[in-house]
Amino acid sequence: MSSTSANRDRVRAASTEVDLSCPDSESAAGELPGWRAAGQRYFSLGRALRARFGRRVQKVSIDAGFTCPNVDGSVAVGGCSFCDNRSFSPSRRLPRQSITDQIDEGIKRLKRRYQCEDFLAYFQPATNTYAPVDRLRTVYQEALKHPQVVGLAIGTRPDCVGDDVLALLEEIAVNNPLYVEYGMQTMHDRSLDWMNRGHHHDVMVDAVSRSRGRGFEIGAHVILGLPGETHSEMLDTAREIGRLDLDSIKIHNLYVVHNTRLAEECARGEARMMERDEYVQTLVDFIEILPPSIVIERITGEAPSDFFVGPTWALDKSAVRNAVDKEFERRDSWQGKWYRKRS
Ligand code: SF4
Repeated sequence: MSSTSANRDRVRAASTEVDLSCPDSESAAGELPGWRAAGQRYFSLGRALRARFGRRVQKVSIDAGFTCPNVDGSVAVGGCSFCDNRSFSPSRRLPRQSITDQIDEGIKRLKRRYQCEDFLAYFQPATNTYAPVDRLRTVYQEALKHPQVVGLAIGTRPDCVGDDVLALLEEIAVNNPLYVEYGMQTMHDRSLDWMNRGHHHDVMVDAVSRSRGRGFEIGAHVILGLPGETHSEMLDTAREIGRLDLDSIKIHNLYVVHNTRLAEECARGEARMMERDEYVQTLVDFIEILPPSIVIERITGEAPSDFFVGPTWALDKSAVRNAVDKEFERRDSWQGKWYRKRS
């Protein structure tokens, strides 16, 4: 066995011996969770991964060539109003590099910035459970065979996890750390209709309920600042995430990229983006009512600058993170300060 594969097996063994819930999120009655005891204001992904794997782990993004039912006409055409999904249409899905080559190249890029030997293969663009189960199994297994991959993260829609897909994910999770991320976006059906999502929130509730107890972690993506949503409605989504008892969340402000319906609405003055201070205030309010156990994977958006229209402040992610830290400090507050368990 090579030292790399021995290392991978050791990391996998260590990570599968522990309960899937991150030990850093737990505390004996009356004790602070580990992240708070360490002086953090919220439970970050970096900390959660270190607690689980005992070392730095980064996500390496993979495009497996999947399309999306909101693009190919199965659910809708045109896709979500904020998503530049032209490249996801079946007719434009060009042959990609192999999964292994993408991982190798991604690792090379990441290693220029981070000292890291272990990676989660992150199936990111489009809908990564939207294919026959045999094809899903093939691409997931190719990623897991890579000697530096210690687990998978899979981004998908909550209406694309039939029972056969969930059975496959459950099977993979027996021996591999697995994180499944559902595009929830909001709990409000009116907003889901606005974005042409093609499903309502009951579908998310159902997907979470059918995913529960299968050995993988369940995450959600949420957008703040959707047109027509009030501050109080955004906080309702935070309470709903607590009620759903999710393991992780990615949050970002609504932003505009070229070639989207949202870009057209903004050009006509029909949609307004949040200002930075408004986002920071809302985000801190949002995190204050999340459970302290949920991992906050992201608080800013990710769009290549050449696709990006606005708001321009969102491109400076470290400034946003600093502003969020400062606001927590100013309030002397933290994740879960105002969390109340709901049934
Ligand atoms: S955001 Fe996701 S669900 Fe919506 S069109 Fe894009 S890939 Fe499909």
